[in-house]
Amino acid sequence: MDMVTVHEALKKYFGFDTFRPLQAEIIQQVFDGKDSIVLMPTGGGKSICYQLPAILMPGACVVVSPLISLMKDQVEGLWGNGVKASFLNSTLDPLEQRMVEDELFQGAIDLLYVSPERLTSKEFLPLLRRAKINLVAIDEAHCISSWGHDFRPEYTQLKFLKQELPGVPILALTATADRLTRLDIAEQLALDNPELFLASFDRPNLSLEVRPGQDRLGQIAAFIKQRPGQPGIIYCLSRKSTEQVAEGLRARGINAGFYHAGMNDRDRSAAQEDFINDRLTVIAATVAFGMGIDKSNVRFVIHYNLPKNIESYYQEIGRSGRDGAKAETILFYSYADVSLMQDIIKQEESDLTEVKLAKLERMQHYATGQICRRKMLLSYFGEDLRDNCGNCDICNKPPQYFDGTELAQKALSAIARVEEKAGMNLIIDILRGSGKQEIIDRGYDRIKTFGAGRDISYIDWRQYFEQFLNQGLVEVAHEAFGQLRLTPAGKEVLFNGRSVEMVQARAIREKQAKPQRAPAKGEQVREGLFQNLKALRLEIARKNGIPPYLVFNDATLEEMAKEKPLTDEDLRQITGVGDRKLHLYGNQFMDLIRSFVLEKKEEGFSVAGATYLESFELFRKGLSPAQIAEKRDLTEGRVYEHLTYFLEKGEAVDLNRLIQQEELEKVLAVAVREEGEQKLKPIFEALDGAIPYHKIRLALLQKK
Ligand code: ADP
Ligand code: ZN
Repeated sequence: MDMVTVHEALKKYFGFDTFRPLQAEIIQQVFDGKDSIVLMPTGGGKSICYQLPAILMPGACVVVSPLISLMKDQVEGLWGNGVKASFLNSTLDPLEQRMVEDELFQGAIDLLYVSPERLTSKEFLPLLRRAKINLVAIDEAHCISSWGHDFRPEYTQLKFLKQELPGVPILALTATADRLTRLDIAEQLALDNPELFLASFDRPNLSLEVRPGQDRLGQIAAFIKQRPGQPGIIYCLSRKSTEQVAEGLRARGINAGFYHAGMNDRDRSAAQEDFINDRLTVIAATVAFGMGIDKSNVRFVIHYNLPKNIESYYQEIGRSGRDGAKAETILFYSYADVSLMQDIIKQEESDLTEVKLAKLERMQHYATGQICRRKMLLSYFGEDLRDNCGNCDICNKPPQYFDGTELAQKALSAIARVEEKAGMNLIIDILRGSGKQEIIDRGYDRIKTFGAGRDISYIDWRQYFEQFLNQGLVEVAHEAFGQLRLTPAGKEVLFNGRSVEMVQARAIREKQAKPQRAPAKGEQVREGLFQNLKALRLEIARKNGIPPYLVFNDATLEEMAKEKPLTDEDLRQITGVGDRKLHLYGNQFMDLIRSFVLEKKEEGFSVAGATYLESFELFRKGLSPAQIAEKRDLTEGRVYEHLTYFLEKGEAVDLNRLIQQEELEKVLAVAVREEGEQKLKPIFEALDGAIPYHKIRLALLQKK
């Protein structure tokens, strides 16, 4: 195919005058019948790479895509450009499917979009054999890899394509794939010596910033108020928090809505439409939001919680500034988020737990890293950004750098001398001249760098290795027990003296320690709760068509914000809360106060009663006292103390889960004989210590 024809077609069908970077090369590769892996950021222009050859070559191109909801739009878009295309997926009825299949045979279409389920079904295979296929394009190809962040098991069956369609080129396309995922794609699709096309992932118009996760709502509100009318997305981890954030912002006079998968279809698409059409300025959403919508003027993306990996983070911030104009991104980081995510990942108990934890750790390294954020990001995707970007929080307020070239060379040389066969811990042991048996057995005590980094402590070395990773000088080979490998940039440092800027490990530790030991800013917490209570009041008032003060007046809400009642009994003590209002609104206000208190605790604030509440909530979720004790690293006695508190206040605590009937009777039998004020010790001794104090205390409560 001569390139003049190709250019003409580009103009004729798509109206474009020139190719974007790499498009022409990729298309040429397809014409040559060769396989390729294409890595281009979202919006980079991947579709043209298969659509154009599909139009120009005889036969049809099969496009495999997991995003069923987008197929119809894509196909309609192509028809709008005068390109004949169809799709096959579970949304079609049998008759419609037959029609599409006929179109394929008769050569009436140039592109056929299919879901992976459909492609790998038995009925599809004969079809594939009989039709004339000119190209197979696999979109979202990272889904094939269990190392990737969006693994889909159906994708692993796509290997048959190469056997069934010998000689037909395969184009695997994705916007996110690190080195391991790339290897997986090539191997699992049995690609034939594929060419890798790696477009730059840099999005220089996006600013990058990480902030400590304290008083997030207050920080966000202040940020938005300085940018009136600018559309933005706030990504939250849970459905509930999307609603809370939106409420909190509305209470501060910001036009905010929320979006999550738990809403009904109508509300959800209304929220999406409102946002797209600028009727809603700010939307708090779970990460599903933004997939498949093409709003080009999103001016900021805020991560309320830490994303689970760098791929997701980059994809999500990438939804801002698509028009190329300046856009801002903020990531809130707290250690509590990391441990929460770790818990979630561990609870999933999949084969991929280790992979997911490793990816989360990289995300954490990014958030706590002290070198240019863009360098860290791009190095994760295998790109080597030489100069600092000047558009991130680190560049704007740089830490004290020192020339770390020699330090890096020592470490990199150790990696090279063990022939990249050791993990980080072992390399550090070598650098520190450790006498470990493994080192002696493997002869590593005889290499030149043995002991060359004795003067640096173990934890400092770990910090420096984190920096080497973030700067893209080394890579971890997760597929090979975490062995460290040198990257091309690392080799340049080692062999060509490329210089490396680093930050003192101690300076980083000091910086990180500060935000975590948060002062008890009671005032701030009270104000935050007050605003949330007001938002809830407004919502209830609207629902019932009454003015807000008829729900509760400001003084009542202020007292609630100050006292933070955690039980109905405490709530009733607040001025202005009578029986009727307690009955009508008690639950909603109680839920809000409780979740607010827990959230503040997670953010590092000390709030009275929060630790009691946390045990109680876990108990309500079905954990046993022993499990709660283990999870919270407390004694079981403490957990009982927490639960007893709620029991005494008349909250519903299922006694059967705390003490067996038999134990209860034993205690009560002894207790009856005791006169006057009940002391625990005589009972404990009378029962020969068979029943612990915390259960005795609980049993006695039942006596009253
Ligand atoms: P991706 O699939 O990589 O996310 P698309 O293929 O959807 O990206 O392309 C993103 C946008 O860029 C689309 O609006 C498309 O029309 C436009 N585009 C693609 N190639 C070109 C080009 N050569 N010139 C101008 N616009 C282009
Ligand atoms: Zn920077």
